[in-house]
Amino acid sequence: MKKLEYIKEAVIARNPNDSEFLQAVEEVLDSLELVVEKRPELLKTGVIERIVEPERQIMFRVPWVDDNGIIQVNRGFRVQFNSAIGPYKGGLRFHPSVNLSIIKFLGFEQTFKNALTTLPMGGGKGGCDFDPKGKSDGEIMRFCQSFMMELSKHIGQFTDVPAGDIGVGAREIGYLFGQYKKIKNEYTGVLTGKGLDWGGSLARKEATGYGLCYLMDAMLKDHNLSFEGKTTVISGSGNVAIYACQKATELGAKVVAMSDSGGYIYDENGIDLALIKELKEVKRARISEYVNTVPTASYTEGCGNIWNVACDIALPCATQNELDETGAKTLVNNGCLALGEGANMPCTPKAIEVLQSNKVLYAPGKASNAGGVATSGLEMTQNSIRLSWTFEEVDAKLKEIMVTIYHDISQTAKEFGVEDNFVIGANIAGFLKVANAMIDQGV
Ligand code: GLU
Repeated sequence: MKKLEYIKEAVIARNPNDSEFLQAVEEVLDSLELVVEKRPELLKTGVIERIVEPERQIMFRVPWVDDNGIIQVNRGFRVQFNSAIGPYKGGLRFHPSVNLSIIKFLGFEQTFKNALTTLPMGGGKGGCDFDPKGKSDGEIMRFCQSFMMELSKHIGQFTDVPAGDIGVGAREIGYLFGQYKKIKNEYTGVLTGKGLDWGGSLARKEATGYGLCYLMDAMLKDHNLSFEGKTTVISGSGNVAIYACQKATELGAKVVAMSDSGGYIYDENGIDLALIKELKEVKRARISEYVNTVPTASYTEGCGNIWNVACDIALPCATQNELDETGAKTLVNNGCLALGEGANMPCTPKAIEVLQSNKVLYAPGKASNAGGVATSGLEMTQNSIRLSWTFEEVDAKLKEIMVTIYHDISQTAKEFGVEDNFVIGANIAGFLKVANAMIDQGV
């Protein structure tokens, strides 16, 4: 009988319709069974019941006027999940799928991820069900200004520091920052992912993708493997995927497939990353256009099928639950050696089961994609000391953090008798840091 079943039942009763949030909580609670076996006294502190309930959840109306003069209304969110080890920290997601369950799952995961970085950041997440696709620059700006009108009441450099996530990049952070500055009449590091001319950090843009590869490199080397000569598939073509592709290629991998929400491209000669950057970062175009320039490549409709492409290393960098049991079985049958999550929770629980039971080295997002938020933490440090570090300095710190995370989760897994189970290693290592702080600070 599982010791934490009663907590799971209480979370289900309180959040009956929040499937993504329940998925994230269940995974952590399952890992924590091993902790309460060793430290049964933890149960008396109520720390587990407290850690699964957000400290604060804010939902608000976001009215804005589109280019045709029509009034649009969206729903905004900020979930301030946990502030035990620092101000709430985590991105904003603008995507039509956004709802409270998704923001809660992201905020929950962020709490443990941020703890793993070793930097003093609590966990939070926010966003809106706004769809940036097809919107003009003016519409994006007016929307961001309206969103910040309300969000500004709840954030601050010592309270809560948002950043980007899906649908929120440098352009959106610029409009959000400008509006915050006008409302508050103060220039502070209240957002990260800022432009390089106005308080941003070098290497922040590259950080999540680079960090993913640094962690995977450490994991592969620990198992006498490397990226060298490995066929690699990367889902997505946003910020995380693009810089994962760049670093994996630098480390010797051959990336043969990437995707967007419409479908995937396969290029057996290796992805032309300059072309992807041009399509995605400059033109904001569909990935299908890749084949117009590279006729030897192919485009397949349906992004979920990307896992049919045989590979040694898989890096899902698109979105939650993008890789299911069938995808995982296909990867295993094709001889996949390792999988690192660049996105948040891209593998379903069944997919993880398939990968782990077939000895595929599996790195969970809360460890492997922590490089983005870690570098946000470094941006906060630079803002506080009023200095900017060089690209090389930030990159070296990022690398050190990712290698440390790998050793931390690997060591924790060993200590709890589950060598190479990096899910349990990450969940327990992240949990212990936050839980100890919460216990020290009292109820
Ligand atoms: N959205 C990113 C994440 O999932 C980055 C958050 C941040 O930099 O605060 O970790």
